[in-house]
Amino acid sequence: MGDGGAGRFAPSPSGDLHLGNLRTALLAWLFARSTGRRFLMRVEDLDRVRPGAEERQLADLAAIGLDWDGEVVHQSRRLEHYADALGALVAADLTYECFCTRREIQQAATAPHGPDGHYPGTCRELTPVQRQAKRDSGRPPAIRLRAEVAGFTVDDVLHGRYTGPVDDVVLRRGDGVPAYNLAVVVDDAAQGVDQVVRGDDLLGSAPRQAYLATLLGLTVPVYAHVPLALNAEGKRLAKRDGAVTLADQIGLGLDPDAVRGILAHSLGLAEPGERPSTSALVERFDPGSLPRTPWMFTQR
Ligand code: GLU
Repeated sequence: MGDGGAGRFAPSPSGDLHLGNLRTALLAWLFARSTGRRFLMRVEDLDRVRPGAEERQLADLAAIGLDWDGEVVHQSRRLEHYADALGALVAADLTYECFCTRREIQQAATAPHGPDGHYPGTCRELTPVQRQAKRDSGRPPAIRLRAEVAGFTVDDVLHGRYTGPVDDVVLRRGDGVPAYNLAVVVDDAAQGVDQVVRGDDLLGSAPRQAYLATLLGLTVPVYAHVPLALNAEGKRLAKRDGAVTLADQIGLGLDPDAVRGILAHSLGLAEPGERPSTSALVERFDPGSLPRTPWMFTQR
């Protein structure tokens, strides 16, 4: 079934996972396991690392019954692979140096249908003299992709064929750190990930990532961007929304099996109060009947 492919979960260790994150992880696991794929765990620790967060995230995922194959991969230990991919793009003349500050980018008029933070292309056409003057000013440049398309189409299990804009995405930040959009593409391909399941806040990033993959000669995965969990105000669930972590729920007297049951119920895979095993959930799982709207999480 999975043709030897793999799914994955790729948390950023910036804090504890909340129930929405755990639900996305459960979905990624269900998509992988129900299609005979391996399930891989990747810690995206290039940025925003909080001490102890990774250990708690992995412990929480295991506690609700998720397992993964092989060692946990850390992006911070894969820097040479991102440098190699960047080098290939530089050699193909598909990059340029960008000296803009965040503020300058915000102030410049952005293209009408650009993704959030769409780069207006200010540094793309600098003359060699202008570029040298910027370099001499001492500000270390970010490296951007010189995108040659305005849009790209991906296949998404829940969204169908999805076309979205591609911009001159940052590949390496001014401080030298590889950018998320490059690292995710390099890693998914290196790990044999052919199924990317994640929150639908990242749907808009999929076209540029898929485009980047094709430029690097890598296989584009199939995507499933799943609805997020929202709080009572309809905003993305966050730590401040009450008892939202596994530890919080345990503090309220639940155990991890009960929490898995709550997540399963929110996915239409369990009755209220039921505590189905992970293997029972694999049996019941059907991507076609997943909820298409966000999960409104309210404290009970
Ligand atoms: N590390 C990202 C996050 O935690 C996820 C990236 C992805 O799944 O592609 O939001």
